Amino acid sequence: MPAFKEFTKENVARLDPYVPGFQPDPNDHVLKLNANENAYGPSPRVLEALRSHINGDLRLYPNSKAIDLRLKVAEVYGVKKDQVICANGSDEIISMIFRTFVPDGEVVQFTYPTYTYYKTQADIYDVPYRYLETGDDFLVDMDAYLENPTHLSFVSNPNSPTGTLLSAASIEDCLKKYPGLLVVDEAYIDFGGAKESAIPLIDKYPNLLVLRTFSKSFALCGMRVGYAFGQSHLIAALDKTKDSYNIAHLNQIAAIAALDDYEYMLSSARKIAEDREWFASELAKIGFTLLPSLGNYVFVKHPKMEAETIYQNLLERRILVRFFSQRRVSEYIRISIGTHDEMERVLAAIKELLA
Ligand code: PMP
Repeated sequence: MPAFKEFTKENVARLDPYVPGFQPDPNDHVLKLNANENAYGPSPRVLEALRSHINGDLRLYPNSKAIDLRLKVAEVYGVKKDQVICANGSDEIISMIFRTFVPDGEVVQFTYPTYTYYKTQADIYDVPYRYLETGDDFLVDMDAYLENPTHLSFVSNPNSPTGTLLSAASIEDCLKKYPGLLVVDEAYIDFGGAKESAIPLIDKYPNLLVLRTFSKSFALCGMRVGYAFGQSHLIAALDKTKDSYNIAHLNQIAAIAALDDYEYMLSSARKIAEDREWFASELAKIGFTLLPSLGNYVFVKHPKMEAETIYQNLLERRILVRFFSQRRVSEYIRISIGTHDEMERVLAAIKELLA
């Protein structure tokens, strides 16, 4: 046998890969509240559209630029068609941003804590990153981005896993002075934060990209479609580095149908936001500390029981929530908001285990 050299790139060999929320066997009937999936499911129109497109046309490649979907997104959000790009989940757009916009030697910054996939992508592309540590209240401070401005920055609004929301005004104040590219990830903004969206700012700021996803408010995690808004020079650059046929045909169909039933999305997001407020107030009554969340989840801790113990105890009752083992966030659990009945069940289980 010849001696094989090490094939894996050094930074990949060192890489801590992204850890998705655990995916239990559906036959185990676990109440899955660990990945911010939407319990209401997609609009019935999405299912109809998918059924009517399951035919022999699947032999053809999908539209490589998802043109019809881009046109639909542009129409619904009131932007020009060259200000939109779509991809295989907003995760893919995060990856595209690294390969399109970060030259060697540049640094990226994002808050701690935040969505861990930014760090994963930085590691994959071997881009050094800097954390902007949040204070005890976990609130994001946009001024921190200006202290040592880098070529690229991410901010999740609302943030994950905390759910805290920044105002559009504070994002704009930062953009006025920030010399790099600022990516505002609005994966969860439909659950009560929409008026703080940065989308209306794209015409004014050439260094702004806004990310959205069909996974959460449109309940299409399984279809993997994300989209982004920005000035045409940014979108054109991203178009050059995207994978050739990055969104499967049926996924494009599903996303268009979801936008056709925007009202359905709004009403499911509204129900989730109402139940989040109710659930949060019930948890507060029994002594939980909560951060003010505008996502479809709450991030909570209890003075009498460690977060990991709550997580384990709920799992024994077939309720799966998210526990993060990293520093600071390990004091908390993140619970996705399901239907009202599901949250009643979670509340009863929590009360039982604290009794
Ligand atoms: N941004 C944030 C803040 C998220 O929590 C997620 C989902 N885990 C994503 C982006 C990615 O969403 P998707 O790839 O499903 O569009």
